[in-house]
Order: sequence, then C-alpha cells, then structure tokens
Amino acid sequence: MEAKIIDGKAISNRIRESIKQKVEELKNKGGPTPELDVILVGDDPASEVYVRHKERAFRQAGMNSNVIRMDADTHQDAVLEQIERLNNDKNVHGILVQLPLPPQIDPRLIINAIDPKKDVDGFHPVNAGRLMTGQDCLEPCTPKGIIRLIQETGEQIYGKYAVVIGRSNIVGKPISLMLLQNDATVTICHSKTSGLEDICRRADILVVAIGKPNFVDNRFVKDGAIVIDVGINRVNNKLIGDVNFQEVKQKAGWITPVPGGVGPMTITMLLENTLQAAMRNE
Ligand code: NDP
Repeated sequence: MEAKIIDGKAISNRIRESIKQKVEELKNKGGPTPELDVILVGDDPASEVYVRHKERAFRQAGMNSNVIRMDADTHQDAVLEQIERLNNDKNVHGILVQLPLPPQIDPRLIINAIDPKKDVDGFHPVNAGRLMTGQDCLEPCTPKGIIRLIQETGEQIYGKYAVVIGRSNIVGKPISLMLLQNDATVTICHSKTSGLEDICRRADILVVAIGKPNFVDNRFVKDGAIVIDVGINRVNNKLIGDVNFQEVKQKAGWITPVPGGVGPMTITMLLENTLQAAMRNE
C-alpha cells in the first residue's frame, strides 16, 4: 500500500494559527509583542530567501521581526557588538544569526555570544547542553519540527527503532537526542558508517539529513516505516530531498515530501520559540 503523506504545510498552518492566537492573548493582557531580530551578513541569495520567509511568517503571526543587514566584509567584532546590543534590548526576545557566515567570521564565537534565553535557534551550547541532559531549553527548530511531524502520524515513538542519517549539530545530533528522550532506540549514521543500507532497513523511523539528492531509495527502507526527509537540494532549479520520494512512497508507511514536509515546520518552530522566549521574559 502507498505511504501516507505527512503534510508539513497543513500541519504547520494549523500550528501557526494557534501561535497567532497566543500572541494576540499575550498582547491583550498587556504583554510584549514578541520580536525576532535577524543578523544577515553578506548577500547570499539563499539566505535572503530564508530571511524573507521568516519576516513574512512573523508578520502573519502578529509578531515583530527586524533584519540587521551587514556587508559581506564586516569584521567579526562588529557582529559581536550588534549581538551585545540585542542581548541588552528588552524589546528583543529572539536573536538569530543567519548562517552561513563569511569566512572571516567564526560561527561558533558568534553563536556563543547570543544570550541563551534569546537563542531561538537553539544552537547555543547552553541550550544544546540542556537538551542533552533533558532540561527545559529552547530546542533547535528543525528537530523540534520533526518530532511534531512524527507525533502527527498518531504512531508512537516509544519503543521504536529509529535511525538517523547525518550527525550535524543542527539536525542529526539533536534529533537523535530528542528521539531518545521520546523512548526510541536510536542509531546515528554518517559518511563513515559501514553497512548503511542494512542498518536503515531495520528502522521503524528513518530520519535522513545528508544533503544528497535522492540518496535514499527502497533498499534503505523497511515496509511501513516512517520516513522523514530533511534534505533540501536544488537541482535544475527544483527543490528535491535526500529521499527518492516516488520510489520510497511505495514501501514506507508514512513519508514527508520535499518541499512541504520538514521545511515549513522549521520556521513554525522558530515562531514558537520566539513566543516562548517572550513569555518567559515578560
Ligand atoms: P551537514 O552537511 O552539516 O551534515 C550532513 C551529514 O550527512 C554529515 O553528518 C555527513 O557525515 C552525512 N553524510 C554525508 N554523506 C553521507 C553518506 N554518503 N552516507 C551517510 N552519511 C552521509 O548538513 P545538515 O545536517 O546541516 O543538513 C542536511 C540536509 O538537511 C541539507 O540538505 C540541508 O539543506 C537540509 N536542512 C534542511 C532544513 C529544513 O528546514 N528542512 C534545516 C537544516 C538543514 P559526516 O559527519 O561523516 O561528514
């Protein structure tokens, strides 16, 4: 039987509607208008598109967003100064530095400078450490969105065998931890893993975050598995995932499309984290 599609766009729209209502309630009781400030260094076209999408989503949710544009040759210290200013501005609840940064700027130093309470991307080591130790934190947006998508299927994560391909700090590692915290048994795979197909074929939940178009086909997939495709690859001006959707949907039980799967959830979780940060710092 063909896989059911996990419609990230529809799920996302529903969550955004509820966020909008919560923002309205917060404002009605005299609370702040949640605000995200984005620092964009340089003129990377993909980053421009992402930032525009974020601005629109914040506006639609009744929240403020402000973009601070800096030239590609900006010195690292100037970015640090901006972060310091935003850390001290009580009207700013979320700070996001759009990645990638130009080569003269060390992304770790920049991320470490953000106040962890305003780190709505969930990349700061304090939030990563709190996630690791099961403490309350701002969770990174893409993995947080993936957990919601899996929950939306109505299938339990508890007791399942989950395999994650990819071990990046922004997707692979945190989603592995979150699946573990939801009582899955988790294996993390990467480019040096041997017997990748065999490992993946045992997975009840397969999360693919590699960045290689159509890498995962039926040979990697167990009948009825939940397959989450995180990959975003631009091929011939089209966005395609890391999973061969047409083939794998014949075998999986559930599958996310690209576009319209994980992507919309990432921005939705950014809205949610910014609202969370604003409510905490009221
Ligand atoms: P990274 O490049 O940081 O990590 C890729 C991971 O894939 C690495 O751990 C790498 O292993 C592993 N990998 C690469 N080739 C293979 C292979 N042949 N077999 C097994 N593992 C392999 O990417 P990200 O995690 O940042 O992103 C992954 C994808 O997800 C990209 O397409 C990105 O665009 C997309 N993405 C989508 C988001 C969304 O909102 N939908 C958000 C963030 C990312 P190793 O560590 O050994 O090098």
